[in-house]
Amino acid sequence: MLVRDGKIVSIGPISRVEEHSEANKAEKIDVGGRVVLPGFVDSHTHLIHAATRAEEYELKIRGASYEEIARKGGGILNSVRKLRAATTTELKYRALTTLKEFAGYGTTTVEAKSGYGLDVASELKILFLQRDLAAEQPIEIVSTFLGAHVTPAEYRSRSNGAARYVDLVVDHMLPEIVNEHLAEFCDVFCDRGAFTRGQARRVLSEAKLHGLTPRLHAEQLTRTGATRLAVELGAASCDHLEQINRADILALAKSRTVATLLPGCDFHLGWKHYAPARKLIEAGAIVALATDYNPGTSPTVSMPMILSLACTQLRMTPAEAIAAATINAAYALNRAARLGSLETGKQADFAVFEVEDYREIPYYFGMNLCWMTVKDGEIIYMKD
Ligand SMILES: [Zn+2]
Repeated sequence: MLVRDGKIVSIGPISRVEEHSEANKAEKIDVGGRVVLPGFVDSHTHLIHAATRAEEYELKIRGASYEEIARKGGGILNSVRKLRAATTTELKYRALTTLKEFAGYGTTTVEAKSGYGLDVASELKILFLQRDLAAEQPIEIVSTFLGAHVTPAEYRSRSNGAARYVDLVVDHMLPEIVNEHLAEFCDVFCDRGAFTRGQARRVLSEAKLHGLTPRLHAEQLTRTGATRLAVELGAASCDHLEQINRADILALAKSRTVATLLPGCDFHLGWKHYAPARKLIEAGAIVALATDYNPGTSPTVSMPMILSLACTQLRMTPAEAIAAATINAAYALNRAARLGSLETGKQADFAVFEVEDYREIPYYFGMNLCWMTVKDGEIIYMKD
């Protein structure tokens, strides 16, 4: 592979690359027979949060359900309280540490959602911080506004609280975010205990009018019809999909909406019911994989671990899983023309793994075999 100014100029057999006029004077990096992949594109993360929820992890192990914990003010609302109380400096330090970890596992692009603020000032605090982080460190950050994550505590005691909170999202948060160009995408958590399909439609239709592209948290806890809504609205992706039915699978297969699967979430919660990846692939849907990095349901930045889960639990082949975590994920972020594969003209984002065969990347689990990560032609991580 020959790289100039962060772009791939030539790629293929050594004889072809060396024929290129610039090859002689290029600085050579010998990766010693290791496997080179496109950098992972993590298309679903909740990057910015203030703290772990390890105490809830233990409660869940002892038998409390995710929804029970949420009803008692734990879950997402727990993260909201902590984020509102945290300073931007604290949040920034935590996020910068995490972004370095992402690079150490071969990830070069991450989508990042707001959604732990849930008031105008706190949602803006997250999105402004994402903009600063994008400018100050090498990993590309794609911003998504998730004001409609859940209804915050102060609205729950009011009559029609959820509907009033949706008014706040639509009338006050969205216009500010659009004015400041703080997000490319708008997401809604449409499920039991979060927002209805009607509320999701309202937020996403309004976001579209403002030029944001919709995406959806869909059919994780119950089947709500959110997948059909995502297809109807031309969403870039609908994510989770543990509860989808045959008709949803066919609707996705006929659409350009990416089915983004998040097996880390099911694994961490100890759920046995994974999304039907094989049925989606066989029907012809576009399948992506992401970490869903967040403190409550998927505390990992490791895409290689997600590949292991995709292979063993979702029965995806190693090649399908790698495509889902690179080019298909880039497509889900409207970046497939520039990222997600190693081709002439594309950005030189790649990761080198200490293995002899790409299948060993998911085969080993819970191990980090990433040896080097390159973003835009620059080394951003090197083992030892
Ligand atoms: Zn999520």
